[in-house]
Amino acid sequence: MSSLCPSETGKAELFVDPGLASSGDYLSSDGMAVACPINTVSCGRPFPGTSVQIVGASGYVEEGWIAASIYYMDTTNLVTTAQPTQLSRVDRLRQLMGENNVGALLVSNLANIRYLTGFSGSAALMLVAHDIVLLTTDSRYEVQVKEETAEVASSDALEIAVSSPSMPNKQKDAIIETVRSSGINSLSMEADNITWAAQQRWAELFAESQLDISFVPQSGLVEQLRLIKDESEIVLMERAASIADDALRESTPTLDSNPTESQFALEVDWWMRRLGAEDRAFDTIVAAGPNGAKPHAKPSSVAIGSDDAVVVDFGAVFGGYRSDMTRTLCDGHLSGEIARVYEIVLYAQQAGIELLRPGVKCADIDMACRKVIEDAGYGEYFNHSTGHGVGLDVHELPVLSTNSDSELQAGMVVTVEPGIYIPNVGGVRIEDMLVITSDGSRSLTSSPK
Ligand code: ZN
Ligand code: ZN
Repeated sequence: MSSLCPSETGKAELFVDPGLASSGDYLSSDGMAVACPINTVSCGRPFPGTSVQIVGASGYVEEGWIAASIYYMDTTNLVTTAQPTQLSRVDRLRQLMGENNVGALLVSNLANIRYLTGFSGSAALMLVAHDIVLLTTDSRYEVQVKEETAEVASSDALEIAVSSPSMPNKQKDAIIETVRSSGINSLSMEADNITWAAQQRWAELFAESQLDISFVPQSGLVEQLRLIKDESEIVLMERAASIADDALRESTPTLDSNPTESQFALEVDWWMRRLGAEDRAFDTIVAAGPNGAKPHAKPSSVAIGSDDAVVVDFGAVFGGYRSDMTRTLCDGHLSGEIARVYEIVLYAQQAGIELLRPGVKCADIDMACRKVIEDAGYGEYFNHSTGHGVGLDVHELPVLSTNSDSELQAGMVVTVEPGIYIPNVGGVRIEDMLVITSDGSRSLTSSPK
């Protein structure tokens, strides 16, 4: 085995002696359970004698070699720069609630719950007040909820209530009793994530329990915290982006055999899973030739021609975090108008990326890209906004659009994805995902363009 000398947050390549590799050996998607002989790699394990900790690994056998990528972060950095306040996410939420006169918040957005507690189940509610943090779920997640929230449970005194067939009301009873014992008389709810029917049910339940509670709609409180990624989140996103880069590199040669759009989408998805992705970040878009004029085309049974421009928009999920990237590929040679459009879109994207830094208005990024495309005479064919934040969700704040009034801040992760879509001809979109640094930006996606 070759030596591995990580010195900073990032990715290291590891190659295993061919004599030790056997067909089928590869690291599992969580980077933990691996076939011999890469069983020395496990997440959360520090490298001896360093402050570097492994956060993930993936690999596969190729021509008798096991090629593995080890993802790591420097935990010294994590403490000194990424979390300067040392406040937990729940405590930072409490601070924000105080600034917004929110005494108690019922969190129903599952991504917000995952961000605050680590719990990734598909059913949960969370109540946060100044002296309480309660998480409820059902018995399908009885073991998982304890495993995933162990860290938060100790630092934030998290209380967990799990309903079961014998105690089906335990979740709502726990919330009602906590509201009663904490003296809460005004409960904020996440207006963008709770249905009218659910709000009505809570009103009835509190009334039946002789509790006079007023409901206050709230928007974007936890999302404000999620805007700025810490080092541990960026490492996971970099990993997701790197898996997608590798998957595209592995998939591209199959264009030689003129697959259909659906077949190529499946190839990309298959490689992402094989390289360690937990899932696709969203439905992979593959749109060839005239289909490329539809920005969010669904892959079809149309075969991809050798000289077609193919818009491929896709991403991987790793540790719950998503990546998002678009490349416009061509197996043969782009020619005519689409070749010219490709150069314009690439130039527009560069104009936007060059402007990325803290303090710049999101609208100015959009305008910089749009101006290049308008000046080239294609303004009417760039019919969507320039970019968006990415994280636990593929579309998060901020929005990089003309009517955004947000400013970029260090730690945001955004896409820059201008495109030109000409009906009946085709389309070009080029998208990268970048983290805003103290003086500019760093791309997390790195496929050639
Ligand atoms: Zn995309
Ligand atoms: Zn995007």
